Order: sequence, then C-alpha cells, then structure tokens
Amino acid sequence: MTFNHIPSDLKAADLAKGKKLFSKNIKFILSAPKEEFLPPPTLPEIAFAGRSNVGKSSLLNAVTNHMKMARTSNTPGRTQELNYFDINQQLYLVDTPGYGYARASKTKVSQWQQLIKDYLAYRVPLKRVYLLIDARHGLKKNDIEIMDILDKAAASYHIILTKIDKIKENEISPLIISTEKQLKDHPAAYPFVLATSAEKKLGIDALRAFISSFI
Ligand code: GDP
Repeated sequence: MTFNHIPSDLKAADLAKGKKLFSKNIKFILSAPKEEFLPPPTLPEIAFAGRSNVGKSSLLNAVTNHMKMARTSNTPGRTQELNYFDINQQLYLVDTPGYGYARASKTKVSQWQQLIKDYLAYRVPLKRVYLLIDARHGLKKNDIEIMDILDKAAASYHIILTKIDKIKENEISPLIISTEKQLKDHPAAYPFVLATSAEKKLGIDALRAFISSFI
C-alpha cells in the first residue's frame, strides 16, 4: 500500500488555500540576530526549527517554491539569526538557527537557546513552530530539550519528519505512530506528525495547507 501524504484532517479547501497563499508574492525581508531587530508584530508568524542538517532550508525552499529562498548548505550551524520571509504580506515564515551541531561551541548553543527562548516566550504573533526531525534519526535528546522549552512556554508546535524518501515506504507509518506516541508527554505538541520529503515533494501541499490555516 502506498503511503498517503495528505493527512485526513485536511480538506480539499484547505489544500486549495495553501496552494493559493504560496503562489503569490514571497520575499526575504530581514535577518534578526536579536529580539530588538524583529519586525513590528503585524502579521501572524510561523517558525521553522530543527537540528542542523535536518533539511530545513530544503523544506522552506520546497514550500515557498523558491529554489534559493533559504540557502541550502552543507555547512551546519551556518545561520545564527532569525530569518523572516514575507508571504504575500499575509504571514511571516521565520527560519530559526539550526541546533545540535557537534562543532558549535557551548557559547553558540546557549546564544541560540536564548534567542529562541526569548523569541518563543515573548513573540505574541508566533502562531506555530514547525519542529523538523530527520526521519532516519527520530527524536534526539536536543529535540526533546527544545520540545520541553516549547511546552513550558505553551508555544504550539507541530512535528515534521523530513527526508522520508530516505526510509522505506513501509517504515513511514510505524515511524509516525511511534513519534506520535512520544508526543503524549508534550502538552504543546500538535498530536499528529507530518511526513515530508523536499527532494520528492511529498507532504509539501499538506504543509502549505496547515500554514495557510493561520491567515
Ligand atoms: P538544513 O541545515 O537543515 O538547512 O538542511 P539542508 O536543507 O541544507 O539539507 C541538508 C542535507 O540534506 C542536504 O545535503 C540536502 O540535500 C539533504 N536533504 C534535504 N532535504 C532532503 C530530502 O527531502 N530528501 C533527501 N534525500 N535529502 C534531503
């Protein structure tokens, strides 16, 4: 049986809304190294977070349909800032710094944590965090740490499995089920997991639909 990449909680109208939102004007607007550089809180914000190399740039590029919207790079830990993308002046997508890269210094990690914690704790227009998890690795210690921070801040987050083309098709559903089981202890987590592949463009329409529900 082939895996269905459209979750059953999405309707045709949701998918159409997502498609429409991302067919419009999309542009990078700013990079904020600190809270005080954030734009005025005028639009709903959706953040993307995850370990370095999880496929965050690739997923952002796929969702926005812009090949170079977020720089895809094999140099983990490259960005230490919050990068804002304006989606048709209706919503901001916010790319947060990748975490958990072994070569990043303790100071860098704590700076990242401080920035993300402050952003999560005080950012009123932040509607949802998409927390990306590599399908081959599952939830790791530092993912759980971020989830705990989000739970404490009551910041709603949704787990996305990335690179599902790298695992066997018959492993996808069991992985989703076991990940969703782990979410039971995390009150701020959306209870369902979305499986994606930027490479094979799987789950992208679904993600667009989820994001467009915030406008
Ligand atoms: P980031 O550090 O989280 O922004 O990750 P990148 O988007 O730069 O991706 C890290 C590596 O994973 C790159 O070599 C990508 O080509 C690869 N990658 C990203 N998404 C996918 C995917 O959906 N499938 C496969 N097979 N590889 C991917």
